[in-house]
Amino acid sequence: MKSVLVTGAGFMGTGIAQVCAQAGYRVHLMDVNQGALDKAISTIQRSLSRLAAKGMLKESPEAILGLITTNRDLGSATKADWVIEAALEIEDLKREIFQELDRLAPATTPLATNTSTIPITHLAQATKHPERVLGLHFFGPVPLMGLVEVVKGEKTSADAFERGIAFVRSLGKTPVRVNKDIPGFVMNRVFSAAFREATDLVADGVATPEDIDIGMKLGYGWNAGPFEIADNAGLDTFLLVGQSLKALGDEYLVSRSDLIQRMVKEGRLGRKAGKGFYNYTPEGKRTPWSDKA
Ligand code: NAD
Repeated sequence: MKSVLVTGAGFMGTGIAQVCAQAGYRVHLMDVNQGALDKAISTIQRSLSRLAAKGMLKESPEAILGLITTNRDLGSATKADWVIEAALEIEDLKREIFQELDRLAPATTPLATNTSTIPITHLAQATKHPERVLGLHFFGPVPLMGLVEVVKGEKTSADAFERGIAFVRSLGKTPVRVNKDIPGFVMNRVFSAAFREATDLVADGVATPEDIDIGMKLGYGWNAGPFEIADNAGLDTFLLVGQSLKALGDEYLVSRSDLIQRMVKEGRLGRKAGKGFYNYTPEGKRTPWSDKA
């Protein structure tokens, strides 16, 4: 049985670990924070029960969960067939992780990052084997979203890139090839442009988040509005993504208001905090944020 190491057990790492286990991989889920690991396991348990109730699992939730082990260090890299890094969107932190992964993982193991914005080439530079570093950019919530961007760094080998495509397919997801390594890749750049405008319109008092979300769903056929997507992803992550895009020279993709910064400061982190652009009931039901002024 092939094994996958997922580093970072937050919103994305948790989902990635789950879909890998659902596809029959043995999964080592690693985080420096024990609380994050505990939360990841209970989140996966709940998600698997829901999927089982809808008849969407090939194996029992117990069998799938049994494939996942948790760790607080990167030791399991030594026996991993795939590594997917999903830690915080901070370049220096990711570079340190890649340096360590490169030292530990077998030479044939591809090292993938789920970064939203940081060029693959920058992370590959932290390793001695840049040809095996690539981007696998999942979309959240990972168990529900079908897309993964497969991103080629300047030195990613054709072999690692094609293995990335095959690996994504093995998870039952659809790969999209990103042949040039640019900040934010393709989908995040397109979404960031829309989200920047939507955020500025809210900050300027032109329209409410609810009305913009309804508008994008009814007017453009989006399944979810930009603020629903942002709340699900986590506004703290969005703030880091914006900071990273700015640092990489693509400031025009980031809102000119400080609305997100203020919301993060006030603990309005999105669905995970029970409040963001919307409020959430303990059952996860979305209600309008009436006191946003
Ligand atoms: P998150 O804040 O939910 O989780 C990040 C996790 O990384 C935390 O649990 C933290 O404890 C852990 N971490 C910190 N230092 C670490 C270390 N040294 N080693 C291992 N783990 C460490 O963030 P997230 O939303 O899951 O995002 C993770 C990555 O995925 C980021 O690069 C982000 O840009 C990217 N991403 C996020 C989304 C999204 O919708 N949130 C979508 C695509 C990609």
